[in-house]
Amino acid sequence: MSLKTEAIVVGAGIAGVMTALSLLRKGASVTLIDRWEPGHPRASSSDYNRIFRSIHGKDEFYTKWVREARLRWMELQEEMGVKLHHECGALVLAGEGHTDWEDATISTFEKLGVPHFKISTDEIRVRFPQFSTEKVAWGLYEPEAGMVMSHLAVVQTAQLFEREGGKIKRGRVMCDEAERLMLDGKPLEADVIVVCTGPWLGEMYRRTVRPISKVVRQNIIYTSTPDSDPTFDAYTMPCWIDHGYGAYGIPSVNGHGVKAAIAWTDTIIDLDEDERVVDKATFNRTRQYLRHRLPGLVGQRAVDQKACQIAMTPDTHFILDFHPEHENVLLSGGCSGHLFKHGPVYGEFSAGVALGEWGTADRFKITDRSSLSTGDSPSGR
Ligand SMILES: Cc1cc2nc3c(=O)[nH]c(=O)nc-3n(C[C@H](O)[C@H](O)[C@H](O)COP(=O)(O)OP(=O)(O)OC[C@H]3O[C@@H](n4cnc5c(N)ncnc54)[C@H](O)[C@@H]3O)c2cc1C
Repeated sequence: MSLKTEAIVVGAGIAGVMTALSLLRKGASVTLIDRWEPGHPRASSSDYNRIFRSIHGKDEFYTKWVREARLRWMELQEEMGVKLHHECGALVLAGEGHTDWEDATISTFEKLGVPHFKISTDEIRVRFPQFSTEKVAWGLYEPEAGMVMSHLAVVQTAQLFEREGGKIKRGRVMCDEAERLMLDGKPLEADVIVVCTGPWLGEMYRRTVRPISKVVRQNIIYTSTPDSDPTFDAYTMPCWIDHGYGAYGIPSVNGHGVKAAIAWTDTIIDLDEDERVVDKATFNRTRQYLRHRLPGLVGQRAVDQKACQIAMTPDTHFILDFHPEHENVLLSGGCSGHLFKHGPVYGEFSAGVALGEWGTADRFKITDRSSLSTGDSPSGR
C-alpha cells in the first residue's frame, strides 16, 4: 500500500484508538468514527482500570504479547506524560482441587522466562494479609503484572492520534442487509475500513460475527478503603484473580476504592437500552464475596459502581479478519474479557493486517469456533 492509503476506523474503544494511531504512524490518512466521545461509559473500554497480567494458562501467544505490551505501555505513558501503567503485581488464588490453569501458567512462565513466584497459603497470609485463604490451595504471584488505567488510556490515545494529524468524527455506522457499511444513508468508502465496535460488532454483523460473539453483562463494585489506612492501596496490595469464585479485583488507585467483580457469564445486556447501573443482587453478592475474601473491608461502604459488558467468543480468542464478502473491511475485536492489556500490541498488529503488511493469526479468523477446556483456555474460562 502507498503512503496515501485512506483508512477509516469505526469505534474508538481501546482496539479502535490503538489501531487508528498505528495506521497513522504507518503513514495512512486516518479518520476515527464513533457514536459517542472516546472514553464514554457504555464502551467495554470504560471504567478506571483493567488488570494487566501475562497469566494466560498454557497459551504462549498471548503471554508473549503481554510481555511486549508491558514495554509499549511504558513507552506510551512516557510519551504522553501521564501515568497509565501501575506495576503493583497480580496474585492468582488457585482454588483447592482445580489448579489446571494455574499449573499450565507456571509451565508457560518457566518456558518463557516470565518472573513469578508460587507461594503457599502461609506465605500469602504474611505477604498479602488482606486476603483470607479459605479454599485456596496456593498462590501464583506475578510481580510484573498490575493494571492499566483504561479510561485515561483511551482518552489520551485519542488525543495523541488527533495531535499527530488523525481526524475524529461522531457518527453511527450501520450495516445494510449485505453487511455493507453505511454512514448517514451513504456507503462508507475508503481503501481500508477497520471495524472495532466491540460488543456492537455482533449486532452490526448478525450473519458474520454474531454466531461467534455472545455479549454478557459484567457488574463492578468499588468499596472504600478503611479510614486512615493504606492497606488496600495499589503497591501495598496486588490485583487478584480468585479463580474458584470467578472473581477478580484491583486495589485502590487514585482514590477510586477497591474494585471487585464476580463474572456472571449468563447475564445478558441490551447494549443500547439498558441503564448502566448495577443491580441489587450483584451488589449483595459482591459484598458477600468481599466479606469472605477481604475481611478487612467489612463495614466499608460502596463508593462507586460500573455496569459494563464483555463480548465473548467461544474459545476466548480475539476476532481480526477481513469480511468474507467485503475485502477492504477488517473486523476487529472479540474482547473475551482480556483485550485491554494488549492494547498497543493489538493496535499495531491490527494496523499491519489492515495494510497487508502481514496476515492475521489463525486463531483470530472468522470460522466456526468451539469452547476450550480450562487447561487449554487462555482466559481460564
Ligand atoms: C468489566 C470488564 C472487565 C474487564 N477486565 C479486563 C482486564 O482486567 N484486563 C483486560 O486486559 N481486559 C479486560 N476487559 C476486556 C477489555 O476491557 C475489552 O476487551 C476492551 O476494552 C474491548 O475494547 P473494544 O475497543 O473492542 O470495544 P469498546 O471499548 O466497547 O469500543 C467499541 C466502540 O465502538 C463504538 N461503536 C459501536 N457501534 C458503533 C457504530 N455503529 N458506529 C460507530 N461507533 C460504534 C462504541 O461507541 C465504542 O466506543 C474487561 C472488560 C470488561 C467489560
